[in-house]
Order: sequence, then C-alpha cells, then structure tokens
Amino acid sequence: MVDHFVAGRSFTGTGERLGPVFDPALGVETKRVRLAAPADVDAAVAAAAQAFPGWRDKSWARRQEVLFTFRELLNARRGELAEIITSEHGKVVSDAAGEIARGQEVLEFALGMPHLARGGYSENVSTGVDAFTLRQPLGVVSIVSPFNFPAMVPMWFLPMALATGNTVVLKPSEKDPSAANWLAALLSEAGLPDGVFNVLHGDKVAVDGLLEHPDVQAVSFVGSTPIARYVYENATRAGKRVQALGGAKNHMLVLADADLDLAADSAVNAAFGSAGERCMAISVLAVVDSVADDLIGRISERMGRIKVGDGRQGCDMGPLVTREHRDKVADYVELAVKEGASVVVDGRDVEPAGAAEGFWLGPTLVDRVGRDSRIYTEEIFGPVLSVVRVRDLAEGIEIINDGAYGNGTAIFTTSGGAARRFQREVEAGMIGINVPIPVPVSYYSFGGWKQSMFGDTKAYGEQGVHFFTREKAVTSRWPVTAGAGGFDLGFPQNA
Ligand code: NAD
Repeated sequence: MVDHFVAGRSFTGTGERLGPVFDPALGVETKRVRLAAPADVDAAVAAAAQAFPGWRDKSWARRQEVLFTFRELLNARRGELAEIITSEHGKVVSDAAGEIARGQEVLEFALGMPHLARGGYSENVSTGVDAFTLRQPLGVVSIVSPFNFPAMVPMWFLPMALATGNTVVLKPSEKDPSAANWLAALLSEAGLPDGVFNVLHGDKVAVDGLLEHPDVQAVSFVGSTPIARYVYENATRAGKRVQALGGAKNHMLVLADADLDLAADSAVNAAFGSAGERCMAISVLAVVDSVADDLIGRISERMGRIKVGDGRQGCDMGPLVTREHRDKVADYVELAVKEGASVVVDGRDVEPAGAAEGFWLGPTLVDRVGRDSRIYTEEIFGPVLSVVRVRDLAEGIEIINDGAYGNGTAIFTTSGGAARRFQREVEAGMIGINVPIPVPVSYYSFGGWKQSMFGDTKAYGEQGVHFFTREKAVTSRWPVTAGAGGFDLGFPQNA
C-alpha cells in the first residue's frame, strides 16, 4: 500500500478509494495507492500551512543546509530511486538514473541561487529616502506531476519552492506514486521539518481540492494539454499563481545538407528513449524529400538493433506504463494504416526480452503521414515516429508553426544560415540545433509555447525563482532630526 506522506510521516487519510500500481515489465499489479478524499486534501494543506511560518523564518543558510544534506543523501542512494522508478514506470534503469540526474541539477541550481532571490536597493531616491525590494515566499504551494518523470518533474519545482521558503503539497501521478514518497522520506532524513514537504496521492478529487483550497497560493502543473488548460483556468479563477505545462508534438526537421548519421542516431534516441513517453520526445520527423529515403533506411536499420525488454536487464527500451496506454498507442498504429500511411517498422510485432504479460510495444516508424491525419495532429506519447516529407526549410517551418503545440523542436543541418532562420521563425519554446531533445539546463528555464504551456512563468531557472516568490517594494525614511516640516495634502513628489 502506498500511503500519503503528511507532516513528516505516513498518513492513511480517510479516503477509501485505491488505485492500482503495476510493474509494466511484468504486467502485474504490485501495489495499491491511496486516492485522497477532500478531507485528506485539507489535512495535507493544513500541515503545510502550519509548517510555513517556521520554515519561512529560517535563515537562507539553515534552509540551504537541509537541501545540501538532501543532495548528499541523494548522491549516495539515487540507485534505489532509479529501481523504484523502473518498477512502476517501466523505463530502463539507466534512463531512470538520467532523469534523477537532471532533477538533481535543479536542486544544485537552487543551492546556488540566493543571489537571484535578493532584492535591489536605491539610496536617496528622494532627499533622505531610500527604496528597496524584497522577495518573499508565497506560502503553501502545490505541485501536480505526470507519470512520465516521477522524480525529475517534481524536482523541477520542489528545490526552488523549498529554498525560497515555501511549504509544499505534491500530488504525483497515481500511476507511479512511490518515487514521491521516497523523496519525502529522504528530505525528512536530511532534516526538513515536518509538514514542509507533503505528498498527497490521488486523482481528480485530490487535484480539484488543491485548485480550490484557499490556503494554496500557487500551482505548478505538468501533464497533458486538456488537464493543463483545466488546471490553469480553475486555479487562476480561484486567484492562484499558475504555471501549467501541457503536451507536445515535437518535430525534428532534417535538411538535405545534414549529417544523416547524426540525424538518424538523434531521431532514434529522441523518438524511442523512454518508449517515447517524454514531453520532449521527437514524434515527427520532417525531412526534405531528396534525403528522405536514405534517412529512413538509416533509422530503420538502427531500430532493428533496439533491444526491447525489462528495464532491469540491460535492455534499451522498456514497456509502456499501463496496458490501457499500450493499447491506445497500438490503436494509433492501426489508425495510421487506415489513414493511408505506410508502416515501415511495426512495433506490434516486437519480441521483448521480458514477461509475456508486460505492456510491450516496439519502436514503430510510419512514413508518408498525412498532415490532416489524427496520427499527425494528436499527441501519441509512445514509441511511434511519423515521417512527413517536406520540400525545403520554409515548408518545414510552416508545418511546425501550423501545429497546435509548441514545446520543443529541432533542426539538423550544416548551414548556419538555415539554423538561424529556423531559430528565429519557429514557434516553440525550446529549440535544438543538431540537438534532438533540447531540455534547457537548470540555469535557463523550461517551458513551451501555444498549447504546450498555460501561464507566463516557466519552470526552474530565474523564472522559477520569480514564480515561487513575490516582490515587495519598500520606501523608507529615517529622519536624523525630529519633525519633518509641516503637512502637505498634495500627492508626494520626490525632491
Ligand atoms: P495527465 O494529464 O493525465 O496527468 C497529469 C496529472 O494530472 C496527474 O497527477 C493526474 O493525476 C492529474 N489528472 C489527471 N486527470 C485529471 C483531471 N481530470 N482533473 C484533474 N487532475 C487530473 O498526464 P500523464 O498521462 O500523467 O502524463 C503525460 C502527459 O504529460 C503528456 O501529455 C506529456 O506531454 C505531458 N508532459 C508534459 C511535460 C512538459 O513539460 N510540457 C512534461 C512531462 C509530461
């Protein structure tokens, strides 16, 4: 049983509903997770609210000390966390270790960021008057995260929120809930006071409770676009600060002058890593017609060498997260055939190195995908790479800009001029030039455009500091002599 973690300890709550947690490589239910009732939301938020004044009033040095210890413990024990992720998500252990490393980069950024949270000071803005700004924490903030990065996505936010003095309620995905509890226990071991970081498990009931709760000041959401929009609309209506990151349909544009071996390796890594269950996965290959057949040949050859199987046994690609999701992705392959595309490599024929009941679907390559087809316009979130042939750079940019999403995109070319035009004109939040998964490093910020993000402050980096603090401007006078020289009802002017 996976319990909630509230006020520093395991919490069963009052909710009677439970959700199944599977080991995707075995295809069996291994755990059940508690699904919070509204009263459990209240209990978690109350714990965070109670802990807030004490945590806010700790010095930066004391808060950083806890996070430094957390980092040391994480370094020593991250292997345990990777195993937990693989056992519930299915991604291979090396990939799970990679997501922990990228999450840890945000933690390390937060350890060095106090200078970004400081205010400014102007002396003598008017005679004898000084002005300065302070950045203060918001209070209780909530994080709602998706199944595909059970450690990294919470860590995009939680080190930033905690370092700046907020207290947190995390609602992780109910599909792979244990990583969140592991992180909570490690933070406690590092000395985080009870109630500063709480984990509430659940589904829509838990999320709705957080969106409506008057004591929750901000919501950091990552998930699919319809839910991101729902969260943004409802939480802003309730007066909260919101950053809601949604789905994606990321294109990789390959021009005729590209290094085709680099492009083929990159396409394979970015389309099939984590079985395509990444918001920055490449799901569309837009390739200039003159090199399309050559590139497809190189990609297909590499796909034949991908070992699909249990992520604990040295394979390259694991199963999908649930049977339901696996079947949904397989249905898209069927749909591609009906929509007149040509399936070059069919992942439904895969022979995995793992239990027969696992949620397997091999890497799939679909060529000549129509631009009006559902397989092209909808997010599939699985190991399916669609190929669209384009005439040139201009048509490549045009089709990317026509799409509803704008998370990430990449161009492969040896022309600096083409790359520069691409980076200027393409409508997406994160751009790769000969780099297929351009996830910004921790001191930049992560977020897409269009339907891939609702809200205007991105995750982590300097924008993360701003999201988790609010600014106060102070105007101050300390007269040296008593008595200021009479009253004046006119609007104050600087002198
Ligand atoms: P999801 O939208 O189904 O769930 C995300 C979170 O919302 C979970 O915690 C879930 O419990 C909750 N939720 C689900 N339905 C809800 C509802 N009706 N009301 C309120 N809350 C609800 O997403 P997922 O399947 O867990 O994750 C995959 C999706 O996340 C993909 O679309 C992917 O592109 C996206 N994603 C985006 C980013 C990004 O940075 N833009 C990163 C990772 C994943």
